[in-house]
Amino acid sequence: MKTIAIIGCGPAGLSAAIALHDAGHTVCIYEQFDEAGPVGSGLMLQPTGLDVLNRWGLRERAEHLGQRIDGMLGRIAPEGKVVLDIQYKALHKKQREPLYGVAIHRASLFHVLHEAVVERGITIVTSANIVDVSNTSSNTVQVIDETGKRHTEEFDFIVDASGAHSNLANSYGRSKQPTPLAYGALWTTVELDEQNFDKTLLEQRYDAARIMVGVLPCGRLPNDDKSLATLFWSIRADQLAVFKADGLQAWKQAVVQQWPTVSSLLNKINSIEQLTHATYVHHTMRKPFARNIIFIGDAAHATSPQLGQGANMALLDALALAQAIIIDDRFDKFAALYARMRGRHVKLFQTASWLLTPFYQSDNRALPLIRDTLFEPVTKLPFAASMVASLGSGLLTNPAATIDRVGSHASRTSDT
Ligand SMILES: Cc1cc2nc3c(=O)[nH]c(=O)nc-3n(C[C@H](O)[C@H](O)[C@H](O)COP(=O)(O)OP(=O)(O)OC[C@H]3O[C@@H](n4cnc5c(N)ncnc54)[C@H](O)[C@@H]3O)c2cc1C
Repeated sequence: MKTIAIIGCGPAGLSAAIALHDAGHTVCIYEQFDEAGPVGSGLMLQPTGLDVLNRWGLRERAEHLGQRIDGMLGRIAPEGKVVLDIQYKALHKKQREPLYGVAIHRASLFHVLHEAVVERGITIVTSANIVDVSNTSSNTVQVIDETGKRHTEEFDFIVDASGAHSNLANSYGRSKQPTPLAYGALWTTVELDEQNFDKTLLEQRYDAARIMVGVLPCGRLPNDDKSLATLFWSIRADQLAVFKADGLQAWKQAVVQQWPTVSSLLNKINSIEQLTHATYVHHTMRKPFARNIIFIGDAAHATSPQLGQGANMALLDALALAQAIIIDDRFDKFAALYARMRGRHVKLFQTASWLLTPFYQSDNRALPLIRDTLFEPVTKLPFAASMVASLGSGLLTNPAATIDRVGSHASRTSDT
């Protein structure tokens, strides 16, 4: 059994702690903030992520706080042609169980995972900004924080789950730091207007690829019964200063012009501080491990949230890592096996996200024209609807089954 340090208390770090603890290892999480806790928006748990939570007995808790989502509908602003219509039910013929997504507030997902970590008695060391690691002569590894302090605890290896801007990934996992994408978004979460929005739909409005406004009903916070929705507005990073200078009212007018129904949500925003600016980066590590370090979640692969897969990929990474160590507990062997278990799915979704994001967030004029003309009719073609739903739901390449299959093949053949 291993002693493992996990850097980061996000979806990846908490999931890895649960999976590795349940496989019999001793884990300790290091988190930079004084108090572990998330900020921000709602996010989509796809059937892939829900499947992983189910294996750990946590799906029901997540569904209890989240909101079932049956599809995604995108129109040309304000109430024009439907140019995107993805329905989870397009997958039903292929599956025994009906499939759906669950939108959940980041704080609620954190609550579910953090509670499971606390129930297991896993240690979380807070206020520990880990910037480096040090290998010892006995082939164990220690963590070093930003003050230069080397923590005395020795670990068999480190799981880096510290997100897209990971120090360890920059030092040991990739050749250069990822550059932010030109477009990010402003996000806020407010009480859902249930009269005017379908609770089971993620809806978006577009004007070319320069403007996108979306509403994601996202369930509720722990200990609060109010139904919430996350509202997002695409913005170029270099326009943030202009947005701040123009002020809240000017922004609200711009949003209402694109989608008048949203005014009932905007009425609940009273200050610019209620809006969080998120930037996105895109990078994919070619080899998600280095000496005594495994990279998971956004530290290993980050992208824009257009496909809504990042947190789900983090859960799948954690599942794969825990299974790989069961099969062969030598670092070189389980690290390579983990990479094989996740490789195809990560490559496919990172590529799809890289190709599709400019159709929704860019200054390109041709791509949104193609989107508005072709996407909807193409998705109505036989097989295309289920293919698109497989992409949207993260199920293309069947990632959890791949982890099981690669694992059982490796254990049969000792081919780790
Ligand atoms: C606006 C937005 C919307 C999104 N929507 C979706 C969606 O709908 N569906 C989906 O699946 N994904 C979505 N994503 C992506 C998803 O949020 C990420 O993929 C996911 O959070 C990655 O989890 P992570 O644990 O790898 O990293 P993070 O969530 O970034 O967590 C990293 C953790 O590590 C800690 N940390 C960082 N550096 C250090 C350090 N040096 N020392 C110690 N601790 C450190 C951080 O404080 C944090 O707690 C969205 C992302 C954004 C920004």
